[in-house]
Amino acid sequence: MSKKQDNNSTETLVDPRKAYYTDDFPRQRQEAPGVEEKMTPKPDAGERSYRGSGRLRGRKALITGGDSGIGRAVAIAYAREGADVAIGYLPSEQQDADTLRTLLEEEKRRIELLPGDIRDEEVSRESVRRAAEKLGGLDILVLNAGMQQAVKHIEDLTTEQLRRTFETNVYPMFWMVQEALPCLRPGASIITTSSIEAFEPSPILLDYAATKSAIAGFTRALAKQLADKGIRVNSVAPGPVWTALQVTGGQPPEKIPEFGQSTPLGRAGQPAELASVYVFLASEESSFVSAQVIGVTGGRLTY
Ligand code: NAD
Ligand code: MG
Repeated sequence: MSKKQDNNSTETLVDPRKAYYTDDFPRQRQEAPGVEEKMTPKPDAGERSYRGSGRLRGRKALITGGDSGIGRAVAIAYAREGADVAIGYLPSEQQDADTLRTLLEEEKRRIELLPGDIRDEEVSRESVRRAAEKLGGLDILVLNAGMQQAVKHIEDLTTEQLRRTFETNVYPMFWMVQEALPCLRPGASIITTSSIEAFEPSPILLDYAATKSAIAGFTRALAKQLADKGIRVNSVAPGPVWTALQVTGGQPPEKIPEFGQSTPLGRAGQPAELASVYVFLASEESSFVSAQVIGVTGGRLTY
């Protein structure tokens, strides 16, 4: 839970160093992609804290990797801002998708679940078609699904992992944008999830960092290409954020306890802290913002 909610005094300022979880994380490990229901502590996606104010009223959004972590925080925020939401995820993550659906349906928000492995081109394309069909159109495409497996030495990086990382993090963006374009009207917004790893790469994330640089390049080039259609394209570059990605091989297990503590703000981020940037980039408040990669990194530089 956000420390903001604990604060019932008249003090309105929240110290960003202490706004969320600051202790060491318990060592833990799951098989990828993992289920965040089984994490300790469970990541905070704003379930209890995010309040909307109609900034996305009537919009229709597809969010890949929307069951957990950053995508889940985006789904909650978009729904509470008035958007109808569809989420993509892997079938093994049904538990997280179900808790999200229950939460949003109890609030009378619209959410559609689209399980499938988007490394398959047809699954990628079909998920866009089905989102548009079920929601009755598409205005916001959040390309957020991703995988990360730490490998200490390049000699140990298998071709299988190399393929999997690129096939998950990079290829589906191309197919999904191709499929979505006929639905997207002027005012629509495409948002990708890059990473601090595109700017300050870690030596144990060679393949992952390369895909995150690719995402930043794709975003900037696509923004130029689609400007004359009135479609904006931006990216968010998170720093270390407490999500299933990290406890399923994204970090070596021995690095989990101190995960995020080397940022200038001294802690890992929580998914809830990313959501408002995705809301901003999807809403007309950012009408002059395109081709940008916006860092949410706890103080690390993203240029
Ligand atoms: P997460 O594990 O909660 O979310 C990633 C999601 O990607 C999964 O829930 C899964 O549904 C989806 N996914 C993975 N492989 C897939 C496949 N083959 N088919 C369909 N869906 C698939 O972790 P997260 O940290 O919220 O990750 C979201 C995005 O944020 C990723 O792109 C990740 O690279 C990026 N990111 C995360 C961090 C961090 O520290 N957590 C930092 C920078 C960038
Ligand atoms: Mg997940």
